[in-house]
Order: sequence, then C-alpha cells, then structure tokens
Amino acid sequence: MPADWDIQADVVVIGFGAAGACAALEASAALEASAAGGRVLVLDRFDGGGATALSGGVVYAGGGTVQQRAAGASDSADAMYRYLRTEVGDVVPAGTLRDFCDGSAAMLGWLESHGVPFEGSLCPEKTSYPTNRHYLYYSGSELSARDLAPPAPRGHRTLGRGTSGGLLFARLAGAVRRAGIEVVPQTTATRLITADGRVTGVECRSLRGAPLWVRAAHRLTHQVTRKPYLYVPKLGRIMHRPADWLERRYGRTFLVAATRGVVIAAGGFGANRPMLRAHAPAARGGLPLATPGDDGSGIRLGAEAGGATGCLDRVSVWRFLTPPPALVRGVLVGPEGKRICDESRYGAAIGEAIVREGGRAWLLVDRAIVTEARRQAHGSTLWFQRLQAWYLLFLAPATAATLAVVATKAGVDPDGLAATVAAYNEAAYEAASGARPTDARADPMGKPSDLLVALDQPPYSLIDFSIRPRMLDPAPVLTLGGLVVAPETGAVLRADGTPLPGLYAAGRSAVGLCSRSYVSGLSIADCVFSGRRAGRHAAGLQPPGAQPPGAQ
Ligand SMILES: Cc1cc2nc3c(=O)[nH]c(=O)nc-3n(C[C@H](O)[C@H](O)[C@H](O)COP(=O)(O)OP(=O)(O)OC[C@H]3O[C@@H](n4cnc5c(N)ncnc54)[C@H](O)[C@@H]3O)c2cc1C
Repeated sequence: MPADWDIQADVVVIGFGAAGACAALEASAALEASAAGGRVLVLDRFDGGGATALSGGVVYAGGGTVQQRAAGASDSADAMYRYLRTEVGDVVPAGTLRDFCDGSAAMLGWLESHGVPFEGSLCPEKTSYPTNRHYLYYSGSELSARDLAPPAPRGHRTLGRGTSGGLLFARLAGAVRRAGIEVVPQTTATRLITADGRVTGVECRSLRGAPLWVRAAHRLTHQVTRKPYLYVPKLGRIMHRPADWLERRYGRTFLVAATRGVVIAAGGFGANRPMLRAHAPAARGGLPLATPGDDGSGIRLGAEAGGATGCLDRVSVWRFLTPPPALVRGVLVGPEGKRICDESRYGAAIGEAIVREGGRAWLLVDRAIVTEARRQAHGSTLWFQRLQAWYLLFLAPATAATLAVVATKAGVDPDGLAATVAAYNEAAYEAASGARPTDARADPMGKPSDLLVALDQPPYSLIDFSIRPRMLDPAPVLTLGGLVVAPETGAVLRADGTPLPGLYAAGRSAVGLCSRSYVSGLSIADCVFSGRRAGRHAAGLQPPGAQPPGAQ
C-alpha cells in the first residue's frame, strides 16, 4: 500500500456523468445526515458530462409522475413493472425492478428537486425523439405490449431545446457544486489500491499541477472533439490525439484515499474497439454512442480488483423506422423477403431483429405511405432526424411498379416478399373489416390493428435499413454490460457472488436495469437509480481499522 496519499475522502466517485453525479449527491446527503459528516470527491478524466451531456436527456419514469398526470395519462407502478419485466427479463431480480417502479415517480421528483425540469406535454405520434413541442412520449414498445400491461407514455425528456442531455447534466453538476462536493477534473483513475482485500483508494494520472496552457489545451481539445467523435468516430479519434498526448506527457501520479468506499461510474466501453469486437461482433457497422471516456477503463479497474463482469455481449443497436410516423405502417423484411418483427416496436428491439438477420433488412412501403411520410418529414422531426428522413425517403429506396421488380432491384427474394405481402394484406383487410373484436390482433407479428394498412398502392419502395456505416443514416450502438453488482447495495461482486469490500459500481460501468434491452430513457433512469444506491451504501459503509498512512 502506498505510504503517501495526495488527498483523502470518505467516498471517491470515479466519473462525473449522470451516475457519478447522483452517487456523489446521495453519498454527500448520507454523510451530512450522519453525525460524523464527511467528504465526497469526484474524479473525471475530462471536465465531466460524459455521454450524459451529449444524450437526449430522456429519463424513463412512470407510475403516475406529475408530468403523466398533467398530460392526462394514467399509469401505475404495477403496469410499469409488468411492461418493463418483458424488457428487463431477469438481468436484475424481480424485487429490484419492483423497487425501481415503485420509486419511479419519486425519483423523477428527486431530479426535479435538484433543478432538472420536465413537462407533461404529450407527443401525439410515434417517434424516436420528440420535437421541441413535446417532452413526454411513448419511448419504448409499450403500445405493442398492450396485451401485457396498460400502455403509458414514460419517456420524460428533460425540458430543454435540442438534445436536452446537456441541460440535464448541467443541472446535476450545479447541484453537486451547491452540495459542496469537490470535483477533480483532468484526472484519470488508472488503478484501484487495495489493502487486506478491501479497496482503500485510487491511483490516478492527473493534470493537476500541469502548466495552465496544458490544462487549457487538454480541455479545449476534448470539448471540440466530443461531437465529431460521436458522429464521425474516425475523425474524432484523430482530433482527440493531442489530448491523449498531453495526458501521457504531463500527467502525474496522484493517490486518493477512500476511507469508506469507491464508486466506479466511468461509463461504458463503446469507444474501446477491441472490447467491442470481442464482445459484440454483431454491432460492427454501427455507430458507437460514446465519448473518448467510454473506453471501458472503469470496467477494467473493477475487473482487475477482482470484480466479475456480465452482459458485455449485450450491445444495443438502434434502428428507428420513425419519424416520420407513417413509416411504421410498412413491412420490415430480411433478405429472404420474410417479415422480421412488429414494426411498431422500439428501435432497439427492431435493431436486435435486424442483427438476427445478419444485419440486413428493408422496409417495404407503398405510394400512400411514401406520400404521407414526405408530408410529415418536416413537422415531426428535429434537424438530425430530418436529414435521416430525407435520406431514407429520397435517396435510400429502390422503387418499382411491382413487388417482383422492386425485390429484384433491392436484392430481396421476390417469392418470399410476395408471400409476406399477401399474408400481411389479408390481415390488414380483416382488421379493416372489423371481423375480429377490437382488442384482438389480426397481425401475427402483433402490430396494433390501427397501424395495419394493406400495402396495395404501387409503386412500391424497399428502403434499406441494414446495419452498416452510413453518415446520414447510422445505426447507433450502446454498450449495456459492465461489472456485476449486488442488487441491494451496488457493491461490486466477485465471480463467487461475494462483495468486494469498499467497491461499488453504477451506470454503464455496471450491469443494471437496461443491461438486457434498452428503451429510450432507461439508461439514464438506471444511472440515477444505481448511482444513488451506490452512493448511499458507499457512504454508509464503516471503514475497518485505521486511517491510511500519510492521509491529509
Ligand atoms: C447521443 C446520445 C443520446 C443518448 N440519449 C439517451 C437518452 O435520451 N436517454 C437515456 O437513457 N440514454 C441515452 N443515451 C445513453 C446515455 O446517455 C448513457 O448510457 C448514460 O448517460 C451513461 O451515463 P454514465 O454516468 O454511466 O456515464 P457517462 O455519462 O459517460 O459518464 C462517465 C464519465 O466518466 C469519465 N471517465 C471515464 N473513465 C474514467 C477514468 N478512468 N477515470 C476518471 N474518469 C473517467 C468520463 O470522462 C465521463 O465523464 C444516449 C447516449 C448518446 C451518446
């Protein structure tokens, strides 16, 4: 164990995104409430924000939130639980999911109490992300799963124009500052320090003490690189090299003692290409939703200290058919012309179905759908969705007067496509005739009957929705797995299921609620839930024995 610590805190949080901020806030509140008080320190390789600050700022919440009630949408914790069970599966115990749902409305209230604004303006149409007129929407596959649970809109988008994750993080960062929590920027955790099997501190490489120009150049390089890194990763990696070099050249070792606990909240591994290749080869061709900080270092730190990892192969690949909403009435087929899923499902579920087809799929639409989608393309989209919609409607399709010709043009099996359309149209005619009771599904794939419209107006178009690198129509990829944690405490677990004393993990560094399948808002919701849990328990843990030597 090193003899000299540079700094000491009760709880040390590695990473300052949503999970890290929530862990720090909760740890600080827990220490404040105890007679002893204590110090919480947050370390970040850059200035904080991570993927959270670039995100859409959608938080999955329900069970009767203030915003749901304002929108006139009824919901219950039980309905939320029954729907989420279909997405979450057994990746967390049923009791954990139950706690999440029971406390969901209060959790949103907790975010609001820290300054994060939400609004109950309900989006009337199916979309991947609502425009600046709406801040509450059906962000998962709730409508497709209405047989299992009454559907409710649970995507609570932070009230802010554009992609509102920046505002969500800014408000959390403000709350962290107001709570007197110290954030140490430009400091990378490189190793966990252990003594007698317990994590007692963190070894870092820090630009603290580096010349001012070095810190300014590092900060600036990272700031200007974040967006190119996200949208054009090759260019982003080149642009980010000076920041990596400054860290290597000017970084100094810095030792931080944690007397109660360390929380790893350092994001996922979307920026670590070898890890992605090893664990999720099917995601090749997708666009990792990652910042340079998502290099898997948090997961590595925990694993090197003896923690087990899980769900690393669970990588969500998103393929949204909407907006424009009319496209949901099309039929999604694989290379053999066979239908592959209910087109009204959430983009990650559609992405998973396309991955099962070897990454290749096309949406069949007819003239009526194309005409309506073109009309909707402007009003129902934000700028980035508009570019994508124009590409899909004007550049991507193969079009022809007959199904046989359009199939041949696109490289889809014509006989398979003809059989698929015949069966689909038959179900659509049956739905339109009212031959079934309204709650019964005519469509074997389970698409809601109101979206089931026969494809019988030529010309037909096959729009390529395959997963491959495309600037205007990328397939976003999000890593979902991480360190295995105890459901009650967030403590990192060894392979034998015993907790590693002094170590916790949260957000995308850990296995959590969204680690099996993602619906919009569930990652940030899990960051808040798991971050608060880890912070609370890290602060409450009694340190065994003496203070580290040399502690300040
Ligand atoms: C464009 C985009 C849109 C998205 N939209 C949504 C959405 O609307 N809703 C939703 O739920 N999810 C969304 N996601 C996913 C979601 O944003 C992330 O999964 C989530 O924010 C991760 O939070 P986190 O706290 O785990 O990590 P992050 O927010 O990434 O924070 C991790 C922090 O750790 C730091 N760090 C990393 N390694 C180290 C180290 N070794 N030492 C010190 N610091 C380190 C990083 O610099 C970073 O600041 C989106 C993602 C993107 C990119």
